[in-house]
Amino acid sequence: MAPHWLVAIRKNVVTMSALVSDNHQARVSVNSVSKRYGEKDALSGIDLEIEPGSFVVLLGPSGSGKTTLLRCLAGIERPTSGSISIDGTVVASAETFVAPEHRNLSMVFQDYALWPHMNVAKNVGFALRRVGIDRTAVDRKVATMLEKVGLTSLAARYPNELSGGEQQRVALARALVANVGLILFDEPLSNLDADRRELLRIEIATLARESGSTCVYITHDQSEAFALGDTIGVLNQGKLVQLGTPESIYQRPASSFVARFTGIAGEIPASVLTVDDRGFAELRLHNLETMAPLLARNPQGLKPGDAATVFIRAAGVSLDGEGAVVEGQVQDVAYNGRGYEHVVALRDGTTLTKISSTRRRNRTSAVSISVDPEFLIALPNEEKS
Ligand code: ADP
Ligand code: MG
Repeated sequence: MAPHWLVAIRKNVVTMSALVSDNHQARVSVNSVSKRYGEKDALSGIDLEIEPGSFVVLLGPSGSGKTTLLRCLAGIERPTSGSISIDGTVVASAETFVAPEHRNLSMVFQDYALWPHMNVAKNVGFALRRVGIDRTAVDRKVATMLEKVGLTSLAARYPNELSGGEQQRVALARALVANVGLILFDEPLSNLDADRRELLRIEIATLARESGSTCVYITHDQSEAFALGDTIGVLNQGKLVQLGTPESIYQRPASSFVARFTGIAGEIPASVLTVDDRGFAELRLHNLETMAPLLARNPQGLKPGDAATVFIRAAGVSLDGEGAVVEGQVQDVAYNGRGYEHVVALRDGTTLTKISSTRRRNRTSAVSISVDPEFLIALPNEEKS
């Protein structure tokens, strides 16, 4: 059989194949990509540059367009408009469409998508055999990869003889063994139990990074996104609403939607009193007296007099700290192994959740709450979406 690169050139695709060469990290450019299904805009004007070798997580709620975007990258869907390039080669545009098998990428799916009639070793080696790599070389690569993901003892088993976590490991091994420039992950952990999920997440982080491939990983789980991504893109209703490092998204969310979707303890209406040149604002809460001035991050340049909502990250709220700003009453307390998580009601009826303390406060007890301004974010008021 002709080598992969020759097949590719014959089909007039000018991608270099990593299957027959050293791994090479792909650069991905998404330019104004939209995808419409009937009347529904699944994606609207997505622009995204993915650096070679980076690990990008696309985070968004169900229905936000994550799978559609990943399928457009893979070549399973064709954008309605816009273009996609991989390493400078246009793979999708009004004029061009390169089939998935010629994009030099692998994909890991939520439901594993293993071949049911092939055992573990055959599944992992499938892509290598298909491009005509000789059998001894395939066997050697497969054995090394199975060893790496801890599946050596399961090599002869069939998918229906494996747990979900084991099946997803096989899918991961299959994606890695091909040594491609780009690996796409579609919520690979969402069908697994919590303990398996954590272990496999660490494995993906380690092995995918070690492989050097560019990775695009989609999830609706913010903790997974923060744990895995060098860069996180937040999707909402088919639009990319923020792109940045996990830290920048956590500290300076671009909208109320991003703040809420990335985890908050609560939110309180306020107005801006003063602003400083270090990116903080002093605020007055509308229906609540505070015992000290309330400072919050001001990433959108609010001005004195502006109406705002203060979004509170749980990590910045303490029941044990100095300088209490507000009082409340414990509504609920839950033990989580490391300490206690409290739900506290403030006098204006606002509820703050996920407030950690090593000390248990019982229901109905009065508490003083202190806050760290680094974890408070003031954003302009907007329509709730
Ligand atoms: P996510 O993966 O973020 O949950 P999807 O990309 O699967 O979101 O879907 C985005 C939107 O596009 C949803 O409203 C979904 O119903 C719609 N959609 C996805 N695929 C199709 C399809 N093949 N036909 C019609 N609508 C679709
Ligand atoms: Mg999806």
